[in-house]
Amino acid sequence: MDHLNALRQVSLDLDGLIVAGFSISGLATYLQIPALDVCFDLGECPLSALPINHVFLTHAHGDHARCLPRHWQLRRMLGNPRAAAYFLPEVIRAGCEGWIRAEAQFEGVPEDGALTPAFHGLVASEALVALPHRPDLRVRAFDVRHSVPSLGYTILAHKRKLRAEYAGVPGPELAALRKRGVDVQVDVDDPLVTFIGDCVGASLVEQAHIWASPIVIIEATFLEPGEEALAAKKMHTHLADIAAALDHLGDRVATRHIVLKHFSMRYAREQVLALVAAGIPAAFRDRIRVLL
Ligand SMILES: [Zn+2]
Ligand SMILES: [Zn+2]
Repeated sequence: MDHLNALRQVSLDLDGLIVAGFSISGLATYLQIPALDVCFDLGECPLSALPINHVFLTHAHGDHARCLPRHWQLRRMLGNPRAAAYFLPEVIRAGCEGWIRAEAQFEGVPEDGALTPAFHGLVASEALVALPHRPDLRVRAFDVRHSVPSLGYTILAHKRKLRAEYAGVPGPELAALRKRGVDVQVDVDDPLVTFIGDCVGASLVEQAHIWASPIVIIEATFLEPGEEALAAKKMHTHLADIAAALDHLGDRVATRHIVLKHFSMRYAREQVLALVAAGIPAAFRDRIRVLL
């Protein structure tokens, strides 16, 4: 049962990018990517998450959200002077602030002394939002369907590149153009990683843009044949939904690493591995990683 210990982190090396965390349905989900300075969800808050300056909350369910206040409180307690940026769906922002104030009150902090973290409420949009502590990164939020409002997030590398029409133009000429106010560069944002908390399997096709990310991290709560209706009822993804989405999208899936997480507690570790191996189409099997 060791795979159910939420503070025992699993670490995956995805072409040199280390992702570390834990995700079992109902227990906890959190995933840190230190090299990008981001953490998705905080169903637990290990000390390793404290230096991370950007936290993305997918939805309000306790196994994903429970330790967000802890991250904020522990950083202050340990004297980290930087305010972390907390991103979450705008529709739950006021509720989250109320929750943190209620917790402060519960601990005896006078109402006018209760602080809340710096929240960035996001709505689904193609517009990209800059990460305050990482000028080289942007985030795109998109809706996924779950039993409560839920966002998925894509982190993108942001660069300014020379416009194609100026390729080969000598430096001094470019400088002269710039001086005349010509914008010779264009914004380029390349997806790096997409993370979804909880969603129905249909979201994987409705939000087909996610498959442009080299890394996609998705839930696979239910795995066993015959549990498809149960997954749909609970608004979670079944392994068969993932297989169907991959079959349907085929070559449009540019993703190199598809990380599965958030398995139901009912499965033993070996069972998860065997069911995943049996349920994923052969063409995609070598791209599947299991956060377990
Ligand atoms: Zn969950
Ligand atoms: Zn949930």
